[in-house]
Amino acid sequence: MFIPYGKQNINQSDIDSVVKVLRSDWLTQGPSVELFETAAKLHHGAGYCCAVNSATSALHIACLALNIGENDWLWTSPNTFAASANCGLYCGARIDFVDIDPNTFNMCVQKLKVKLEEAEKTGTLPKVVVPVHFGGLSCDMEAIHKLSIQYGFNIIEDASHAVGGSYSGHSVGSCAYSDITVLSFHPVKIITTGEGGMAITNDPQLAEKMSLLRSHGITRDAAKMSGDSHGDWYYEQIDLGLNYRITDIQAALGASQYSRLDEFVACRNRIATRYNEQLADFPVSTQQGSSEVCSAYHLFVIKLTQENHVRDRKHIFRSMREAGIGVNVHYIPVHTHPHYKKMGFNYGDFPEAERYYAAALSMPMYPDLTDENQDYVLGTLRRSLDL
Ligand SMILES: *Cc1c(COP(=O)(O)O)cnc(C)c1O
Repeated sequence: MFIPYGKQNINQSDIDSVVKVLRSDWLTQGPSVELFETAAKLHHGAGYCCAVNSATSALHIACLALNIGENDWLWTSPNTFAASANCGLYCGARIDFVDIDPNTFNMCVQKLKVKLEEAEKTGTLPKVVVPVHFGGLSCDMEAIHKLSIQYGFNIIEDASHAVGGSYSGHSVGSCAYSDITVLSFHPVKIITTGEGGMAITNDPQLAEKMSLLRSHGITRDAAKMSGDSHGDWYYEQIDLGLNYRITDIQAALGASQYSRLDEFVACRNRIATRYNEQLADFPVSTQQGSSEVCSAYHLFVIKLTQENHVRDRKHIFRSMREAGIGVNVHYIPVHTHPHYKKMGFNYGDFPEAERYYAAALSMPMYPDLTDENQDYVLGTLRRSLDL
């Protein structure tokens, strides 16, 4: 038996939806993509949803739509998957990070404020800030939004972990406090399309730009063309886009998964509550949210609080793995990767993210995790910590 840290949940109705597409005339650019986008719009209460082949692609077209380029800065959290920062590099922008809050594991708003004050003096204010809702817990978006107005930056929420979560009554993805929100549908995330992502916005111009960029920058809409139509086959490439399209096969799975999202998030919250109860007497701390936030619980991370455990994390990790438990570590701070060190970053730059990383361990968290398996995980953890 192996208990992974995360796992998709596919039922017969998901499978039936995909098979229906396989038997139809459209494998890509057919009706399922629209169905999927409509399901997302309804769930998130947002204006426009642009489904693409990954969250990485969604982050890229989000940056392009906001016109980030050379001489611009993109700021994000160091405690994230590298894609949250790479999207700026694709556009030639420069990257910087805002250290995390040790209790929420998210970008620290106070540190963001201080960094903005300093950047204003040196003329290096960011064009785009990418808050990452780590583990499914929304950042304090109202506060970040206020700062965005004061300092004039755009916000792309990286909500790859937070599909199905909410923030002060708004579904994550509503873009109530951002320009664009990006979702991931990788199998380890909350709902899946195999590979897939989505860029959401309430701004019609950003929506139009992103849907153009998703497919080569080509339009068939006569109103957007500069030349006269040569005939019914005619189209024009009016921008330099990419092929970031999602297939109808994937989109059908996504639409079906959206109908199960609330149930998944309820399961994840039940499992998290049970972890928190049972971990009460362990020398560990867990992610602290405010009452305004409902986490989607993509991850359940424990932070070791005893120094000897932190020193021994490698062995604790290994002994859990040897017991068939797929613990993991999220994340190696982005600025410590060699590619980022080449740009001048180094250890010590973002000490909270580094301290967090040294002590973090992701526990199994997925809707199918049974109480019995969870008890086994907790028992093994207790032994691994020599409690
Ligand atoms: C998974 C993930 C991504 C990338 O998602 P893909 O769909 O695999 O491209 C981006 N940001 C974060 C925070 C993620 O966890």
